[in-house]
Amino acid sequence: MVLLPTDRMDSLFSPRCVWVNGPIIIGAGPSGLAVAACLREQGVPYVILERADCIASLWQKRTYNRLKLHLPKQFCELPRMPFPDHYPKYPTRRQFIDYLEDYAAKFEIKPEFNSTVQSARYDETSGLWRVLTSAPATGDMEYIGSWIVVATGENAESVVPDIPGLEGFDGKVTHVSDYKSGEIYNGKSVLVVGCGNSGLEVSLDLSDHGAKPAMVVRDAVHVLPREVLGKSTFELAVLLMRWLPLWIVDKIMILLAWLVLGDLAKLGLRRPAAGPLELKETHGRTPVLDYGALARIRAGDIAVVPAVKRFAKGTQVELADGRVLNFDAVILATGYRSNVPQWLQGNDFFTKDGYPKIAFPHGWKGQSGLYAVGFTRRGLSGASADAVRIAADLGNVWREETKPSKRPGACHRRCISVVF
Ligand SMILES: Cc1cc2nc3c(=O)[nH]c(=O)nc-3n(C[C@H](O)[C@H](O)[C@H](O)COP(=O)(O)OP(=O)(O)OC[C@H]3O[C@@H](n4cnc5c(N)ncnc54)[C@H](O)[C@@H]3O)c2cc1C
Repeated sequence: MVLLPTDRMDSLFSPRCVWVNGPIIIGAGPSGLAVAACLREQGVPYVILERADCIASLWQKRTYNRLKLHLPKQFCELPRMPFPDHYPKYPTRRQFIDYLEDYAAKFEIKPEFNSTVQSARYDETSGLWRVLTSAPATGDMEYIGSWIVVATGENAESVVPDIPGLEGFDGKVTHVSDYKSGEIYNGKSVLVVGCGNSGLEVSLDLSDHGAKPAMVVRDAVHVLPREVLGKSTFELAVLLMRWLPLWIVDKIMILLAWLVLGDLAKLGLRRPAAGPLELKETHGRTPVLDYGALARIRAGDIAVVPAVKRFAKGTQVELADGRVLNFDAVILATGYRSNVPQWLQGNDFFTKDGYPKIAFPHGWKGQSGLYAVGFTRRGLSGASADAVRIAADLGNVWREETKPSKRPGACHRRCISVVF
């Protein structure tokens, strides 16, 4: 990376320019780290920009204390470094963070922290990417280079639903990304809006801490046991998919779920018409895994309630079935979204929701040196697969670009960037 001084008068007011001799990776979560590690192996230099002050900010700052990896560790490890042998089958959040810290140290990954990418656009004239960051400590910077790797994740921003009256609710309203533990809710009645993995687990955590949670179940949902006969349900599905078509595996999964968990419709949890794997494949909707919350629902410790119609007055909440209940607090387990459309300009590789338009496994590479990692809706295993492909591709391009016969081209680009 080269810092380019410029003697133009207006440079006092424009961002400082940095020529990046290699790809610019945006985001230092597991996906960005995986690309950086694989690039190192390819001998490709890079810069990695991260808005937070640490790696893996989602895991460090925006997840709850009791979280463990949802899937067995072999499906969650990053390329080139397995989890330590002594780690349990489902590592805790802390163990996963330690693993990522060790990963960054092993591959000497040193992100530029507190650097939020405000915009990135491809400049047709120069054939270069211009990435503008705001950084409180160093001031605005413009990174210029031939390639960018988008690694800002599927969970970059919290989704807050537009429910009438929510802003006037008299109790504490928290998005699940700010929830740490149920300790502070002891003795309180808490409405948990959302019944995905986070909604179910937070309800269980609240119940463990002596709160009275009510979980809003608006739509049909697939809840599966985390394990069947000591084998992870996910692992079982992956195994069966090798031999059987998806729709048969779906039927097997639903049958197993029924045998292990019983009839969930009685608990207010209807199953969608489409199977869990089909829904994942077509809509990216992850089945919910049960960690013990269903037993609490059966015991009456967690209530299941229908959709919220509106937040009435004070602490009253009106439900779709007409009931009006009082709650001390609300937790919004209403998910996350990608933020790519907010800052990536003039590019139609991503949908308006911030996912590559091209389906897995081909959505990792766009035009003009654009790459995307971690948008496969397949968690860490999808991110790792992307990272390996991206680094191999960039390795080839890099070797080609840096061949001695190509040198004048590279130099010419450097000259252009000085002018900016
Ligand atoms: C509660 C929870 C549990 C999960 N459990 C599992 C699991 O068990 N197994 C699994 O495979 N997956 C799981 N996931 C999915 C999860 O998304 C991945 O595990 C993983 O965090 C994805 O990594 P990522 O690097 O793509 O995204 P992230 O971890 O979100 O990292 C993206 C990084 O980009 C940074 N960033 C965003 N915008 C900007 C910007 N404009 N400028 C600079 N930096 C920016 C962010 O600060 C962040 O550090 C879970 C997700 C959640 C929310």
